[in-house]
Order: sequence, then C-alpha cells, then structure tokens
Amino acid sequence: MRYIIQYLEPGPHLAHIAPREAAHRLHRALAALPIEGVLLGWSLSPALVASCAREAQEAGAALYLWHPLLTAQGAPPEWPSWRAIGPTGQPAPAYRNLPEFTFLCPNHPEARAFVIERLQKALQEGPFAGAFLDRIRWPSPTGNDHAHWACFCPFCQRQAAQNGLDLSLIQRILCTRPLSAALRAIYRGEEGPLGEWARWREEVISDLVRGAAEMLHREKKRVGLDVWSPALAPLVGQALGALAPSADWVKVMTYLRAWGPAGLPYEVAHWARQMAEEGEEGEALSALSRLLGLPLPPTLNAFTEGFAPHAFAIEAERACAFAGHAPVWVGLDLVEIPGICHIDEPTVRAALRAVRQTGIAGIVLSWDLWHIPLERLDWLKE
Ligand SMILES: [Zn+2]
Repeated sequence: MRYIIQYLEPGPHLAHIAPREAAHRLHRALAALPIEGVLLGWSLSPALVASCAREAQEAGAALYLWHPLLTAQGAPPEWPSWRAIGPTGQPAPAYRNLPEFTFLCPNHPEARAFVIERLQKALQEGPFAGAFLDRIRWPSPTGNDHAHWACFCPFCQRQAAQNGLDLSLIQRILCTRPLSAALRAIYRGEEGPLGEWARWREEVISDLVRGAAEMLHREKKRVGLDVWSPALAPLVGQALGALAPSADWVKVMTYLRAWGPAGLPYEVAHWARQMAEEGEEGEALSALSRLLGLPLPPTLNAFTEGFAPHAFAIEAERACAFAGHAPVWVGLDLVEIPGICHIDEPTVRAALRAVRQTGIAGIVLSWDLWHIPLERLDWLKE
C-alpha cells in the first residue's frame, strides 16, 4: 500500500511546538512507513516549514502545502462582507464558530481574487512541490436549521440568474420545506428548482477549483484535492467527476469515526435525526441508507460508534468510478482526539483489507500526524 500523511493543522497548540520537535515526529513516521507525500498545514512559521521540509526531502517525500481555499485567514478587514450568505440573508453559521470553517462566497469577485492570490503567494514563498486544496465547497447544511445552505448573496443571485436560476425561489423553498425534502431532491438529481440549484452549486465550486488549479499548473506546481466522501459530496456542492480533471490526484475524506465536519458519522447522523423526527427511526434510517447507497449504523445512538469498515471500501470504489483518470487516495481517520475521533486496530485492519480490492492509489493518513499515536502506524504494516 502507498501512503501520504497530513501534518500540523493550525491551532493554538502550534505555538508550543518547537521546529525540532515537529521534525522529530515526522522523521519517526517517515521511518515507520513508505510515505511518499507530506501535506503540511497552512499559516505555519517559516522555521516549522523548513524543519519539516528537510525531513520530507531526506525521505524522498513530496511536500505539499495543505491549504484551505475558501476561508478567510490573512484576508483584509472587510472580509466579513465576503461570507457565504444563508437563505434568510444572514451569513451561513460556521461549525463551532471556527474561522477555519467560516466560508467565503466563491462568486464574490473580491473574495475570489483574494483566495487565488493568497494561494499563489503561499506557494511562491514556501518549498512546496504543490498544493493540497481543502475547503473547496459550500458550507455543510447539517446544522439543525436552514441557515447553513448557501449562498444567496447578490453576486450569487446575479450569477445564477445568468444561468436561468432564480435563487429567491430556492430561498423560499428551503425556508418552508423540511430539510429531508431538499436532501432527496439533491441526491436524486430531480428535475425542478432544487435539482437545478444543486447542479449550479457544483458548477460554481468546480469552476473556482479549475481556476486555482490552472494557476498552480502554470507555476509548475502539482494539485491535490481534499474532497468529501462520495456519499456526502452533494451536500456541499462537490461533483468529483467535475473536480478531478483539474487535479493531479484527489483524496476523499472517507472518515469512519470522525465526529466533526466531513466525518460520515457526524454528517449523516444529523440528517438521520431530522428524518427520524418526521417519522419512525428505523424507517428513516432505511430511507437514508438507500438514498446515500451506504450501510448505516443500526440506530441513531450507534452513530457515535462510527461506520463499518465495509463503508470505506464502498466509498473508495465509488470515488474511483467518479474520478476518471485522476488517482484516488482515501483518507483514513487515524487521529485520537477525545470526543471527536477514536479508531481501533481491528477497524483499521478491516478497512485496509476491504479497500485492497478497489482501484485506489493509496491511503492518506488523516488528518494530522500530530494527533496520531505513532504506534498506530504499525497497524498499517502489511
Ligand atoms: Zn454568494
């Protein structure tokens, strides 16, 4: 099996990590497994980047900048006016109010110019072979109200109108119909306003990513994409088939245990709960399982224990089918973060066995080596 690893997602803890300490941990991981790529977090100090770059180079691993495209770090003070807007006219709320989950509107001309220029500058400044683009999506609508669907700003309204789509009609539908109705329309690719809106959302994101990737390729940089697992991607306007041609490779975030954005348990549990409120729990779970094409945990309470390893292979296979020629890497959530992610050895080994029969290029050890107990790397050895 081939491996890529993610390392040093920014957070307050980074202020206490010395460059030598960061390099030492990376050194141990690179010695433990044949890791061919290191995806290094954004906004790191030059000393931290340099220490990790040395380790990657010595191990012959390609160094990528892991970069959140549609968030606001480093943006000028007016950036709040660039935020993606929900159907009630208020900014779409961020997961836990975190800046790294606060989304800008890809149709706002100033925001769009800013995110491309920031990416270009970050790549020119660091020793990176390429960029690994994260946050290439709309906000996730898995909150408990309508506010997370986006964007309905004047720029989006104008852009949609040029494509024959009336966003004010979509706003009215989203504010009056149950969320599960929107979900069904989007997943079934229904004709009618919601289905057209879902396709428009995918086109906007694919177009933004295409522009970013063209810039990176002109700069002779490689492009990896961090995309939601196929069962979840329609929620956030990601069409893997349209995104993959822009990239040299894609990773799908098929997280079996993560209780947070993009994690299968977290995202699907929210939908399951809402659908169960409209009817009976067992029926809601069966309907959702059919809609997503995925085996679900047997009860709502069981979602916190995560998805079966079998789901990992189903999603991997689906991603390979959608991605066409682009190599597909599957993200395995190996981090240990209390209340957010815990995975055990039998699950990891079963997931690896299940995925071996698919056409994937390899595994991305996700989502941050800093939070992966090093002994877990031994679970991946043949
Ligand atoms: Zn907008």
